[in-house]
Amino acid sequence: MTRQSDTLETEHRDIIDALFGFVDKAVAPLEEKHQELLSEPTRVFDDRGLMSPEYLEVSRQVRELSAEAGFYSLYGAEELGGGNLSATGIVAVQEAMHHRYGPERTLVHESVIPSPFTNGLSPLLLKLDEDVLAERLDDIRRGTSTLCFALSEPDAGSDVFNLRTRATQVEDGWVINGQKQWISNAAHAAHAFVFAVTDPEAVKERRGGITCFFVDTGTEGFSVDAGIPMMGARGSNATIISLTDLRVSSRQIVGERGAALKLALGGISRGRLTMSATCIGLARWALDMSVEYANTRRTFGRKIGDHQMVQAKLAEMAMEIYLCHSAVLRTAEMVDAGKASVKETSIVKARCTEMVGKVLDEAIQIHGGLGLTNELGLEAGYRYARMLRIPDGTSEIQRRTIAKRLLSGDLAL
Ligand SMILES: Cc1cc2nc3c(=O)[nH]c(=O)nc-3n(C[C@H](O)[C@H](O)[C@H](O)COP(=O)(O)OP(=O)(O)OC[C@H]3O[C@@H](n4cnc5c(N)ncnc54)[C@H](O)[C@@H]3O)c2cc1C
Repeated sequence: MTRQSDTLETEHRDIIDALFGFVDKAVAPLEEKHQELLSEPTRVFDDRGLMSPEYLEVSRQVRELSAEAGFYSLYGAEELGGGNLSATGIVAVQEAMHHRYGPERTLVHESVIPSPFTNGLSPLLLKLDEDVLAERLDDIRRGTSTLCFALSEPDAGSDVFNLRTRATQVEDGWVINGQKQWISNAAHAAHAFVFAVTDPEAVKERRGGITCFFVDTGTEGFSVDAGIPMMGARGSNATIISLTDLRVSSRQIVGERGAALKLALGGISRGRLTMSATCIGLARWALDMSVEYANTRRTFGRKIGDHQMVQAKLAEMAMEIYLCHSAVLRTAEMVDAGKASVKETSIVKARCTEMVGKVLDEAIQIHGGLGLTNELGLEAGYRYARMLRIPDGTSEIQRRTIAKRLLSGDLAL
């Protein structure tokens, strides 16, 4: 059954149709060929929770095919050779892909259009020294090499001013020491954005003092200590890394010295909106399936969709999705219009990640025992949805941001 969004604008529909065509023609045959590998989580992830070499090879093929077809860098900036898709375009594509393909098509979701933190044309690349970028850009754009974003640490997740990683200036550059935790893709990335304290006094006063360095992961002193197996890990591929006397040049500073948090938040903000659209797509996928099941499964001599309690569940799911969907579209329009949307992005990130959890929970309930078997992917979707409330700022941190904006006078709603 085709589950195509019926709310997409025509300009985005063309892109989406082309993407669906690419997935069906180029990715589906690879999925079919590697079906045994892809259906066995212990072959996709090793016992350290890291992607296996077999899986990485297929993922590289998809990335490179997608780059050739022009989809891989669709969300990237024009200056980097990307497709420069608008925020409304990105949310439309992201929603449509998850609506159509559900939670389990890992290759489709992770490798066709990448998360800008781990693959592809990260907005942070725009702030890189021209020569440093020039040497590496082609491979990044073509999906031959990938990235990681190393901000979080054992004692610094929500509270980034608690960073312990230090970069000390020496005669010919900087020396970085510290440990990072939860870093997606670090075990396979060619390059890392590493965030380190360069001005402890400014950090103590919470007014900056953190600098981002672009590091080649093959540099001496960069090591991956462990993978972290995780719930709902559809390719989250999280790691702990150590930076030991890692030497970098001043040309490897990304953006301005001491101003990295602003830079990081800019990227994270975009990620939050994209994640919200993912939630809408997944929730619609689960609702479609629940409606179909309610129209066919029979108990007590009638379809379960004739029971009022099942009807109420379907209605609640639709109500939640509709409201979240409208809010995501409105926020994307604000971003495209260049309006400040910090509060609005936090509102949709918190609400959409919570909404998709509730919708998947009800979808499992409507499917009874079948919902728990993962025959239809609902169980995997439920675990994936649960994961989304933590990265890119927890639900509590989003509420903190919303309240701070309100208390400082931003009451527009
Ligand atoms: C799948 C996954 C992938 C990730 N990938 C990356 C990555 O690639 N790079 C990277 O740098 N990081 C990554 N992270 C880390 C992620 O950003 C952090 O996990 C997140 O910021 C939360 O930090 P924490 O886990 O240390 O929790 P903590 O900050 O310790 O929070 C613990 C609890 O306290 C609550 N809390 C904290 N402060 C407040 C407050 N002020 N008010 C109210 N409640 C509060 C939190 O909401 C949470 O419920 C990833 C995480 C996950 C789960």
